[in-house]
Amino acid sequence: MFNSLSDRLTQTFGNLKRKGKLTESDVNATVRDIRLALLDADVALPVVKQFTKVVRERATGAEVSEALNPAQQVVKIVNEELVDILGGETRTIRFAKRPPTVIMLAGLQGAGKTTLAGKLGKWLKDQGHTPLLVACDLQRPNAVNQLQVVGERAGVPVYAPEKGNVFGHDAVTETGEGTRSFGDPVEVARRGVAQGQARQHDVVIIDTAGRLAVDEELMQQAADIRAAVNPEEVLFVIDAMIGQAAIDTAMAFDQGVNFTGVVLSKLDGDARGGAALSVASVTGKPIMFASTGEAVKDFEVFHPDRMASRILDMGDVLTLIEQAERAFDRAQAADMSKRFLSEEEFTLNDFLEMFATVKKMGNIKQLMGMMPGMSQHRAALDALDEREFDRVEAIVRSMTPFERTHPKQINGSRRARIAKGSGVQVSEVNQLLERFGQAQKMMKQMKKGGGMPGMPGMAM
Ligand code: GDP
Repeated sequence: MFNSLSDRLTQTFGNLKRKGKLTESDVNATVRDIRLALLDADVALPVVKQFTKVVRERATGAEVSEALNPAQQVVKIVNEELVDILGGETRTIRFAKRPPTVIMLAGLQGAGKTTLAGKLGKWLKDQGHTPLLVACDLQRPNAVNQLQVVGERAGVPVYAPEKGNVFGHDAVTETGEGTRSFGDPVEVARRGVAQGQARQHDVVIIDTAGRLAVDEELMQQAADIRAAVNPEEVLFVIDAMIGQAAIDTAMAFDQGVNFTGVVLSKLDGDARGGAALSVASVTGKPIMFASTGEAVKDFEVFHPDRMASRILDMGDVLTLIEQAERAFDRAQAADMSKRFLSEEEFTLNDFLEMFATVKKMGNIKQLMGMMPGMSQHRAALDALDEREFDRVEAIVRSMTPFERTHPKQINGSRRARIAKGSGVQVSEVNQLLERFGQAQKMMKQMKKGGGMPGMPGMAM
């Protein structure tokens, strides 16, 4: 996800590292590199233009800071502007004053709407809501069935016209009610909402049909559903891998259904993704969620600031901690993150605990990608054998309690002993200690507050 963009930007900033002062030509060269990196990542041209214009102005302007060196200042500016094009503030679902809150999903076929319905349902359920999913995709042969499977996996009930008969305009039987409806998605949506209300679901999520490309009929149907159920939120789901077509598609849906928020799906893919990143800026609508895989758990609230720092390889420890919270005992995990931030010093014991947590969460590579400074280790990360984690654990376990809390005191002979004890090379012990040093620095910076988790990728 945005790996090559991230690598390119990190490299650009790396070139500035040694400069004591930025000349006009430094700024020009940097802006040019940023521009190329964004264009190569498929970020839409008008967005790139505006972005580089502002970065140039701000970098040339009088933002002299005693606290930051020139390279750090440029990163800070790029970070802030990136947060801005990603939509600024984090925003999620607005709930209706009177339930049910209706959320409608729209987007092209294959965008990930049905999958998202399950993820969103689970996310809401975990927060104590009582969502109902409504299957209004009566176009794709298997869509209703797919939503039922998704709902089951997420543990969220589904309102759907019964199998068979749905594709004609014959009367069909609805699940649950035993009443009759038509193969008309607008009618199904209306009844779904009514059922949600009757059965005291406080949120109703409506999955709608998509087409392979934007067409009038599709848009009319979506608009009709919108008009019929008056949703609080209309979420436009877009496949982050569709490239430049993202912009036109987003504009068409915005005109057609006037969506209120965006969901980026398939962010786990290794496509460039920049076009999807432009959607917020081009439409002025916030990106609310990100879908990062096929499983129900592969779902995140989209935080523009965290995404920016991930792209700039500043790490995303907050998301990491949140995922830990979700995967585990909430109280225990909340305690863990609080403790990390309140402790005098982040120690190897915490690191071990964090690793153990990460290990249990699965999808380790994705999680590791959120660690600060990882872009430098991308190749290693790609080649990563998940058994690595057992080795890390073995290394830390071979340390004495004193060493775990005083890692700076681990000298050469201690390193050799630890390596021997855990059956690894000394270089692996060194590597681990170095990685830990970065995490420790990062924690320190986060504790100081200021929201900006330093610039560990730059090791400045
Ligand atoms: P819909 O036509 O918009 O309802 O799209 P679906 O929800 O059916 O998704 C289309 C395909 O993309 C399915 O095979 C999903 O499993 C897959 N998919 C959806 N979201 C993601 C995601 O975030 N990552 C990956 N890798 N696959 C996804």
